[in-house]
Amino acid sequence: MSGTVIRRIVIVGGGTAGWMAAAALAALVKRPDLSIRLVESEEIGTVGVGEATIPHIRSFNQRLGLDEDVFMARTQATFKLGIEFRDWGRLGDSYIHPFGAYGRSIDRVGFHHHWLRLRRSGAAADIHDYSLPVVAARMGRFTRPETDPRSLLSTFSYAFQFDAGLYAAYLREYAEARGVVRTEGRVTEVEQHPDSGHIRAVTLDRGDRIEGDLFIDCSGFRGLLIEGALKAGYEDWTQWLPCDRAVAVPCDTVEASIPYTRATALEAGWSWRIPLQHRVGNGYVYSSAFLSDDQAVERLMGRLEGPARAEPRMLRFTTGRRRRQWLGNCVAIGLSSGFLEPLESTSIHLIQAAITNLVELFPDTGFDPADADEFNRVMDLEYDRIRDFLVLHYNATQRDDTPFWDHCRTMAVPDSLAEKMALFRERGVVARYRDGLFLEPSWLAVYFGQRMEPDAWDPLSDRAPDAALADTLETLRTSIQRAAAAMPSHEAFVRACCAAGGHA
Ligand SMILES: Cc1cc2nc3c(=O)[nH]c(=O)nc-3n(C[C@H](O)[C@H](O)[C@H](O)COP(=O)(O)OP(=O)(O)OC[C@H]3O[C@@H](n4cnc5c(N)ncnc54)[C@H](O)[C@@H]3O)c2cc1C
Repeated sequence: MSGTVIRRIVIVGGGTAGWMAAAALAALVKRPDLSIRLVESEEIGTVGVGEATIPHIRSFNQRLGLDEDVFMARTQATFKLGIEFRDWGRLGDSYIHPFGAYGRSIDRVGFHHHWLRLRRSGAAADIHDYSLPVVAARMGRFTRPETDPRSLLSTFSYAFQFDAGLYAAYLREYAEARGVVRTEGRVTEVEQHPDSGHIRAVTLDRGDRIEGDLFIDCSGFRGLLIEGALKAGYEDWTQWLPCDRAVAVPCDTVEASIPYTRATALEAGWSWRIPLQHRVGNGYVYSSAFLSDDQAVERLMGRLEGPARAEPRMLRFTTGRRRRQWLGNCVAIGLSSGFLEPLESTSIHLIQAAITNLVELFPDTGFDPADADEFNRVMDLEYDRIRDFLVLHYNATQRDDTPFWDHCRTMAVPDSLAEKMALFRERGVVARYRDGLFLEPSWLAVYFGQRMEPDAWDPLSDRAPDAALADTLETLRTSIQRAAAAMPSHEAFVRACCAAGGHA
């Protein structure tokens, strides 16, 4: 330890990232001599979107000790078993990327190899019929998973669809109750140490000057500290992920809420549909090189299933990531660290990953560069791996009905993705890695869902006799059908355990 303990943390920004960071730091690193201050500007506001999550958020909430039913009631949340992708491989296609497995290994050979083999002889059903979360989602059913690994009900996980503004407000209450001090105001000046370049203080429009040891930049796309002051630099990934705009609008709910998000491929991007308890969130993520803003608004409004609840909100972004997310005594968390479009609902996860890494590598005032290097290495991997997975959705398509899809189908992909796709095409192998999101079932969902076919399967699958294998798969398929049909409807489950207004 080359410095002294950190006594003053200053968080700039009070969106989802700012309040998640404040709540977690208050719960996990707070000491009596540590002050945490959060500065935010109501006049600037937050990005105001971000409703779908992945299962990791549950461990974040658990670490904070939040009661799940109360959290859901407070944020108008619904459960999420996966994402339905419509029209991605070809117009008319639909598949669900589930939070869960496909079948189970047989004789230590991955399920999908057996499935590939049987399917050639016409003895296997659709691969999605062997996934409990897919079948339950399609039936509109939900129950919480079981922990006994022998139970079929242990083969899936779940996440939430919620109002991110209400989540931030809920975490604000939590953080303030643990001593975080919020200051309203707009940061107009960032003062740096003349030698080290470290941030020394921020000044607000009303003249207050706030000093700190560690600064957390949660100021959103503008990256007020990390870019505005420290010039960390930005890696632009538009050549692989061409969408650069979105229009978002909530509408009334007109049907029972379903336990999954929907992402429909449109002519120049894709639209999301996220059902919450009190409304449905909708948006169109598109490429301005292929569609005008007016066309995007018209298309989105024409797709709404119920009356709009607000004016459409326009957003612009550049997909990519900051070259350094931790620089000196400043750590960028949230949109200030980079942006990957919400196709797989990963932004809130990236906030959580950054917070977890910061807590693990929590520095002292010496700010050993080794901590920052390790943080940046892990966060870069997180970003790179999500990027590759997202690019796969665009590139693995047979659509040729618009110039946008012609571009996506024929574009060069990152080498790291090209290698993964080649490996899968050769013999159905899914590349494994240690750090970062998306395990084998996720890659399989998109590969098979978007019609990528391997040339062969693992030859070890050939040891199992055809008839016995066919029986095993059929028993599994029918057990999954029965287990899903026995679950309550998603709507009834939410009403019973976590309806908004039902918890104090
Ligand atoms: C179209 C779209 C859809 C998305 N959908 C999803 C999704 O489904 N799931 C998901 O996980 N994520 C999603 N995201 C990402 C998600 O919205 C963000 O990750 C999340 O909201 C965090 O934002 P933030 O807190 O980093 O930034 P913001 O919400 O922009 O907050 C920035 C904060 O900084 C403050 N600030 C800025 N400048 C100053 C200043 N000068 N002085 C004082 N305060 C200042 C602002 O007032 C605000 O409080 C989506 C993003 C977009 C663009």
